[in-house]
Amino acid sequence: MSPPPSAAPAGVSVGAWLHDCALARADALALLRELAGVSHAGLLANPERLLEPDALHRLGEAAARLRAGEPLAYVLGWREFWGLRLRVGPQVLVPRPETELLVEFALEKLAAHAAADVLDLGTGSGAVAIAVAHERMHARVQAVDRSAAALQLASDNARRLLSPRRAGGALRWHLGDWLQALARADEDFDLILSNPPYVGEHDVHLQALRFEPRLALVGARAAADGLGEIRELVAQAAPRLRDGAWLALEHGHDQGAAVRALLQAGGLVEVHSRRDLAGIERISAGRRAGGPRAA
Ligand code: GLN
Repeated sequence: MSPPPSAAPAGVSVGAWLHDCALARADALALLRELAGVSHAGLLANPERLLEPDALHRLGEAAARLRAGEPLAYVLGWREFWGLRLRVGPQVLVPRPETELLVEFALEKLAAHAAADVLDLGTGSGAVAIAVAHERMHARVQAVDRSAAALQLASDNARRLLSPRRAGGALRWHLGDWLQALARADEDFDLILSNPPYVGEHDVHLQALRFEPRLALVGARAAADGLGEIRELVAQAAPRLRDGAWLALEHGHDQGAAVRALLQAGGLVEVHSRRDLAGIERISAGRRAGGPRAA
């Protein structure tokens, strides 16, 4: 589709770019939409439309990054999670669709109009904390991360995505190691959520995940079984649950039994796992006995 050498430079059409870009079609369509303003419908209606030189340049740079293996979310600078457009960058894990299971779990446990203290451990881009705060106006949501750069991004996301008039006030952000990041050692919660680092330190998938922060994937307590951070998290979080309160966390596809055992060892009851759309045990949860209602 390139012009014959003798012709005056005729530019590159949208259709030609799509044909020649060597990207997965969905990625190519996303780049055209976001970087060149060409919708899928527009492409189908007029594949001969020429790309502006600026747009062509942006597309070329973005396509090269994707071909080098960088996630689309970093190339675009955003990823949608729970219908919210979160800014993301290499300082945070790209929010995954399966992590929405954690939000679903939280919304089941949080009554729509009741105040509740919720904690998100390892918030990254803020995905879980912001989604819960978005859906539950009266929840007082706090979030912890070990990375200052992640917290900066998360708080920017919250400012953009949440109404300043939320009944529960602004989210609160804490830098540090799980619950030790909180100012008060006796503060307890109605719900604690986490998508912690859980990838084993020698896991072969780390190569494919190389653009994402190792701190978010493997954590600061690297372990061959990937459970180094989860062990510590459960140990710190279980004693900080109010009566009847739930702790729910995401984990790897083969970690369900081990995480249930850790939750039980932490004294929690009604310990169970939930599967994601691919049928994989993806989150496990348990609650502290007592409280106003059981599940
Ligand atoms: N779900 C991610 C992956 O394996 C890992 C996320 C995490 O460690 N929390 O691709």
